[in-house]
Amino acid sequence: MDIVEYETEDFLSESAICIFLISTYNVEGPLDWFYKWLEDTRYDFRVDKQALSKMKFAIFGLGDSAYGDQFCIQPRNIDKWLGQLGAKRLYPLGEGDKNSDQEKNFEAWKKSLVDMLFDPSYALNNVSSNLNYDSYSESDSDSDNNNNSDTEMVDVEDIGALAPKLQAARKSKEKEEFVYKNSNGRPKRTLSEQEVPINEPKEMVTPMLRKSLTKQGYKVVGSHSGVKICRWTKSALRGRGSCYKFCFYGIQSHRCLETTPSLACSNKCVFCWRHHTNPVGKEFVWKVDPPEMIFSECLSNHYKMINEMKGIPGIRADRFQEAFNVRHCALSLVGEPILYPHINEFIKLLHDRHISSFMVCNAQHPSRLRALDKVTQLYVSVDASTKESLKKIDRPLFKDFWERFLECLDILSQKGQRTVYRLTLVKDYNTEEIANYVELVRRGKPDFIEVKGVTYCGYGGASKLTMANVPYHNEVISFVKHLNENLGDTYEIATEHSHSCSILIANTKFKINNKWYTWIDYDKFFELLEKGEHFTSLDYIAPTPSWALFGSPEAGFNPEDQRFYRKSKKNNNSVKNGGC
Ligand code: SF4
Repeated sequence: MDIVEYETEDFLSESAICIFLISTYNVEGPLDWFYKWLEDTRYDFRVDKQALSKMKFAIFGLGDSAYGDQFCIQPRNIDKWLGQLGAKRLYPLGEGDKNSDQEKNFEAWKKSLVDMLFDPSYALNNVSSNLNYDSYSESDSDSDNNNNSDTEMVDVEDIGALAPKLQAARKSKEKEEFVYKNSNGRPKRTLSEQEVPINEPKEMVTPMLRKSLTKQGYKVVGSHSGVKICRWTKSALRGRGSCYKFCFYGIQSHRCLETTPSLACSNKCVFCWRHHTNPVGKEFVWKVDPPEMIFSECLSNHYKMINEMKGIPGIRADRFQEAFNVRHCALSLVGEPILYPHINEFIKLLHDRHISSFMVCNAQHPSRLRALDKVTQLYVSVDASTKESLKKIDRPLFKDFWERFLECLDILSQKGQRTVYRLTLVKDYNTEEIANYVELVRRGKPDFIEVKGVTYCGYGGASKLTMANVPYHNEVISFVKHLNENLGDTYEIATEHSHSCSILIANTKFKINNKWYTWIDYDKFFELLEKGEHFTSLDYIAPTPSWALFGSPEAGFNPEDQRFYRKSKKNNNSVKNGGC
């Protein structure tokens, strides 16, 4: 049964064998009520220390080793508190790491537990109450963050028929812990006999993940990179409209390569496109592929996918031909590109071929951001304006995520590049607290602030987002107006792409003689870069066309293209057409 349906008060008289499967959350989760109740009960001096003596239990915890010492923290504490309240542990706590073979570990644990339950000697001992559970005590002195299973058992020989199995399980766990501790923190939790050599970095993308990504339309390149054709690239090829970056900055969507050199990220944002199956890590701990290979493989896979579109009705021949000469690279597919150790070399490969670089980062890696070379446009995702809401929405791995975030904003303000804050609005998560957003803008001094409604893509897994969290375009406009009013004279609303529910607030230095210059002169950018002299974001600007301006009748839709409405979607104001 679901633990949320269980009456906690019944727990104190529970005499059944209870098997718990418990996942780990570092944010609010369905377990909270039970977890808090159990903790309170454990430390309530009025509650008998043998209050759960009738209960027998076993726990299997699910977690993610990337969270370090918080790995399986909730299952570990529940296991400890149940024991401390007198419940009888039938089998040692099992743990499954999502970065290792979680399912296999669970199967192994389950089999051992079931074997033990059906072992006649166990049944005999249990019926006659010969199991001397009371002869071992549950340690009270360990901190909540420690798995104290090793110290919980004393006089283990007294546990009668269970002793050999418990000893074997303990030995196996000790061995496993030893390997884990000596693997430099890399995920390594397995009950299998075969062990991965300790000092060899693993590949980031497991065969299972590769299969799942391929099914979702990604081409996995090497062992940690990916490429996918953006829906706006397809739309532009058919003359049905380009993405908001065309409207705001003049990129040609049909000549855009959307890729990432790191499918892993250090956050688990609730709105992540990848349905929470992507690898996570605080640092790049996997095998590293060379940038030249990633670049050429990404490009050739991209061209293969473009080529596959030639038979689709409505493809414009001129754009199809141009598409084989990529001019822009959006480093924002999924994952965190800045994690890739050779990101600067990768960007240089792009620039050497006059491919512009739009780089998005999650503001969690200040030292890497500081070391990042010039890109055409540098983004940080500002997903919330307070520590609490950022934790709730980004679900970061770092404990000091807020300090890292603020440091990144400070670095951005000194970067001397063309910079952008990206705000993705999620109703009920981050659409309030305007004053805090204003503070963050003053801190990072971005050239531009992009505000977009979140794109709904059928969230599942750990995310609780529904269509109700997707703001309507008029709600995005009202947020932007409110924010803009509070930003003072330095910023103004410049452009709008209503098709993807996106609005651009720009620093007024880009409004020259009452005309906006939010577009980019790409040739000029490469010319300046090749000269090797200092230049600023104002040195490669181009005028914004009238149809892109905020409040224009076209609302950001290029009149040369043909707007296409799906029959059932014409009056649906909600966003499904985001962009990277
Ligand atoms: S939405 Fe992003 S990936 Fe797609 S065409 Fe535009 S810039 Fe490229």
